[in-house]
This record gives sequence, C-alpha cells and structure tokens, in this order.
Amino acid sequence: MAKSSFEYVKKFELDDTLLPDTWIIVRLDGKCFHKFSEDHNFMKPNDIRALKLMNYAAYQVLKDFNDVCLGYGQSDEYSFIFKKNTTLYKRRAAKLLTTINSKFSSSYVYYWSKFFGTQALQYPPVFDGRIVLYPSEANVIDYLKWRQADVHINNLYNTAFWTLVLQGKLSPAQAEKRLCGTVSADKNEILFKEFNLNYNKEKEIFKRGSLLLRQPVKMDESGAVISAIVDIHDDMLKEKFWVKYENLLDTKGKNKLPIYEGPLTD
Ligand code: ATP
Ligand code: ATP
Ligand code: MG
Ligand code: MG
Ligand code: MG
Ligand code: MG
Ligand code: MG
Repeated sequence: MAKSSFEYVKKFELDDTLLPDTWIIVRLDGKCFHKFSEDHNFMKPNDIRALKLMNYAAYQVLKDFNDVCLGYGQSDEYSFIFKKNTTLYKRRAAKLLTTINSKFSSSYVYYWSKFFGTQALQYPPVFDGRIVLYPSEANVIDYLKWRQADVHINNLYNTAFWTLVLQGKLSPAQAEKRLCGTVSADKNEILFKEFNLNYNKEKEIFKRGSLLLRQPVKMDESGAVISAIVDIHDDMLKEKFWVKYENLLDTKGKNKLPIYEGPLTD
C-alpha cells in the first residue's frame, strides 16, 4: 500500500529496546491499596484472600508468558523476572511492562469473586508498574532478598500494630506511639509477653511472601515431564534456600515444558 502523508508521525515513536543479556524485572504495585483494602474490608494485618488473589493473578501471568521464570509477591506488589535472554516483544520495554500489567490487573478483577465471594468489588483497582534491569544473577538474588526483607519489616510492624489495636484496645495513634523507636526484638516481646503471640508461628505466606516458580514434575503413567507453577513461602534470606534451589534462575528448557493447570487456589 502506498505510504500516506501522515505516516511520518510513526517516526516520533522512541526506541525503548532493553539492553540485551540482562535480567528484566517488572514490578507492579497497587495504587492506594491502603484505601482499597479498607474499602474492601481486608482483614488486618493480613487478608489471606487478597494474597491468594494476587498469587492467582500472577499465576495467570506465568501461564501466559513462558519467558517469565519467576514471580515474587507480597502485600499489593508483584515482581516478575524474565529469563535473561528473552526476546519477547524484541525486549521493547513498554510492550513488556504494559502487557504484563494488563494481564495481571485484568486477572485480579476477573478472578476477584473466586477469592472474595460475596464481598463485591467496589471499583476497578489500579496497578502501577516499572522495569528494572540487572546485569548479574547475584543482583537478582539480592533483589529478591530485598523485597523479602521488606515483607519481614512491614509484617512484624503491622502484626504488632494491629494486635495492639484489635486486642490491646489502643487507638491507632496510641499503637503507633507505642511502637515508635522499637526494634524487632521489642516488637516480638510485646507480642509474646502481652498477647501470648509467638511471631515465629505466624503463617509463612504472611512472613515471607510468595515465590511462584516453574517446577518440572514427572507424570506417573507416561513418564512425560511437565512443568507445574507452584507457590512457595520459604526464607530466601537463609543461604540454605539458595542451596536447595540452586537452579532457580537457570531455567534452560524448563519454560518450554507444557504447563500443568494447577489451581493455586487452596
Ligand atoms: P501507593 O499507591 O503509593 O502504592 P498504597 O496505599 O498502595 O500506596 P503501599 O505501600 O503499596 O501503599 O502498601 C499497600 C497497603 O495495602 C498496605 O499498607 C496495606 O494497608 C494494604 N494491603 C495490601 N495487601 C493487603 C493484605 N493482603 N491484607 C491487608 N492489607 C493489605
Ligand atoms: P496484536 O496483538 O499484534 O495487536 P491483533 O490481533 O490485536 O494483534 P490488531 O492489528 O491490533 O491485531 O488488530 C485488531 C483486530 O481485532 C482487528 O484486525 C479485528 O480483527 C479485531 N477487532 C478489534 N476491534 C474490533 C471490532 N470492534 N469489531 C470487529 N473486530 C474487531
Ligand atoms: Mg507504589
Ligand atoms: Mg501500593
Ligand atoms: Mg505496596
Ligand atoms: Mg491494534
Ligand atoms: Mg491488537
């Protein structure tokens, strides 16, 4: 077809190809979820339905995008790690970020009632997104540790805060004042001595967040190997985690396997 006189506008588009041979991480975060969680009666400090819905939406992303080898989620955020040499969308940043965000966000809405039952969705939620590139595997591991350390700090604070409010009958302002200047050991002690709550026994998903990964599994009869997307809640700050999952980021072949339609709902 002959070129139209309007076509020059196409040249205004900027090249946003991401550096080759680097780890691409997409991180999404809910917009104003402090308010969103109140508007939807999230249990405080941790609403398990909300966390499972986040995981399920992320699962849809991994199912759809084979080149995403890992997902890590906590609170209202999710990170997606692409295999290092992905050529998806020719590594165009906007295409990658927007399609991942769109798949995640629409899945969050689409599967809302699967997790929230009769609690109606009051309005369409919004997620922001960014892309960060990392040159080495060590950087990616530190990235995951950084996000998990964040869960730990926030969750210990939130658990102490909400226990003081809900069980200790303090006002939010009083609870905040009580926790001001405390270190982790102090918060653990308040929970244990005053409320008989052993923080270590809190659910792993609350303390550690969720890692979604592809695991090759052998099906019994035919012996065929398939890939299952599974969620785990282990402590990535411990070195033994990285011994156990030494090939976590080495995804050769793994994401070519057909995917087991595992539900991730219970
Ligand atoms: P921003 O738009 O800047 O991200 P935000 O209100 O979303 O603002 P965040 O720092 O992202 O702030 O924190 C998310 C908030 O959402 C948490 O502080 C908490 O109040 C709420 N939240 C998210 N997930 C849950 C959950 N599973 N259970 C209870 N509350 C949650
Ligand atoms: P890509 O993923 O590359 O965008 P695509 O299939 O979405 O692939 P587009 O060039 O974006 O291709 O074209 C969108 C297509 O969607 C149209 O060619 C048409 O087939 C279909 N489509 C979109 N809107 C309508 C509509 N309102 N009525 C009928 N068909 C539609
Ligand atoms: Mg944010
Ligand atoms: Mg947020
Ligand atoms: Mg957040
Ligand atoms: Mg189009
Ligand atoms: Mg299209």
